[in-house]
Order: sequence, then C-alpha cells, then structure tokens
Amino acid sequence: MVATSTLSERMSAVQAAVAEAAIAAGRDPADVTLVAVSKTVERATVDAAYALGLRHFGENRVADAQAKFVPPLPAGANLHLIGQLQSNKARPAAALFDLVESVDRPSLIDALEKVAAVHEHPLSVLLQVNIALEAKKAGCAPEAATALLARIQSSPFLALRGLMTIAPLVPDPEQARPVFAGLRTLRDRLRDADPSLDLSVLSMGMSNDYRVAIAEGATQIRVGRSLFGG
Ligand SMILES: *Cc1c(COP(=O)(O)O)cnc(C)c1O
Repeated sequence: MVATSTLSERMSAVQAAVAEAAIAAGRDPADVTLVAVSKTVERATVDAAYALGLRHFGENRVADAQAKFVPPLPAGANLHLIGQLQSNKARPAAALFDLVESVDRPSLIDALEKVAAVHEHPLSVLLQVNIALEAKKAGCAPEAATALLARIQSSPFLALRGLMTIAPLVPDPEQARPVFAGLRTLRDRLRDADPSLDLSVLSMGMSNDYRVAIAEGATQIRVGRSLFGG
C-alpha cells in the first residue's frame, strides 16, 4: 500500500500543479476534475485516497474493478472506466461505473444502451476520439464523431457528457499539445453544429502531460503515476 503521508504529499503537489496550470491559462482550477487512476493500486490505497478527499477514480479493466470495489466506495465516489471495453462486458461495466470514457463504436453504444435500461439513471458516457490517428489505438476517427454522437443521443439510457482522448507517449509533453488542441477544436466544431449536444467534459492529460492538457482546455485529467507512483 502507498503510505498515506506519501499519497498526501503527491496529491498536494498534483493539485498545486493543476491550479498553477489552470490559472496560467486564465481558467478556474475548480473546472478541472482530478481523476485518480487507481488501476495499479490495491483497494486500501484507493480508500486512503478517498479519505484524503479524492472522489474520482479511473480503472481500465472491468474485471479488476469488479473485484476491487466490493464493497463499493462510499457515497460521492465516482468510478470512471478509461480502458477499452468489449461489448460482452457492457453489463458489468454499466452496473459498476458512473462514467464510461471509452465509447468509440456503434456496437458498443448499442450494447451499453441495452444493458443500461435496467438502471435508475442513464449511464454517462464520453466519446473517445483517436485525435492522433495512431494505428491500433482505441477511439473513433474524428470524422466518425458526428454519427456516433447522434447514435448516443438517440439512446435514451445513455447520457452524453463529452469527449476523451489519449495522447501518444512522447518524450516532451509539448509534443502532445496539438492532440489536446485537436480535441478542443473538434468539441467546438461539434457543438457549433449541434448546440443541443452536452460536450462539457474534455477528458485529456495524464501524469506526464496534464499541465499542457489543462492549458488546452481539459476539464478532466486522468492521473495515475504522479499520485500512486510506479
Ligand atoms: C493508465 C492510464 C492513465 C494514467 O496514466 P499515468 O501516466 O499513470 O498518469 C490515464 N488514462 C488512461 C486511459 C490510462 O490507461
């Protein structure tokens, strides 16, 4: 388990860096949600992070998260699915996660819609876009976004919240800037074309590049290593 004192120090450092990046960009730090990516740590560390005040946790595998979150986190915690989702895992994913960030194809939209119907609230989703057009990476092509968003909008049990992207791993975070700017301009274009779309969330930026992502408009950053080590 990561020691609470270590976790507390890392959390303060990340929160300070988030605030600095937001203020430098003329943004309110409160408009950037820190999603603690807990995929590499055990439950005790997640509980310690919750006790320190973190409320958003990201996991990339449904099976791991199912095991880790028995019993569930206390009220107010939000679980984000940030990894690729196979349609045959849609049912447990919809039951466990508050936000599925990795929706990227028609078959997955339809699978989630089918299983979300039994829940009290619509399932919140983000459309994942492969802005960098990396081969074999998850996320839809930017040109496919309009049709996929329309499909989500016509799914009564899904609630569109915004867009997500994963930037390529690059030695200098500045090299990721065009990808983050690309997701923001895509969001602006999609919203101009259809103001009824809820695209308020821009999930982009990880440990190595979240400062640049915040400068380009990220409203959610997904941070693992800077909080939990590794
Ligand atoms: C693991 C992961 C992260 C966190 O990455 P770090 O470099 O540990 O901050 C963010 N997003 C996704 C999709 C991930 O799989």
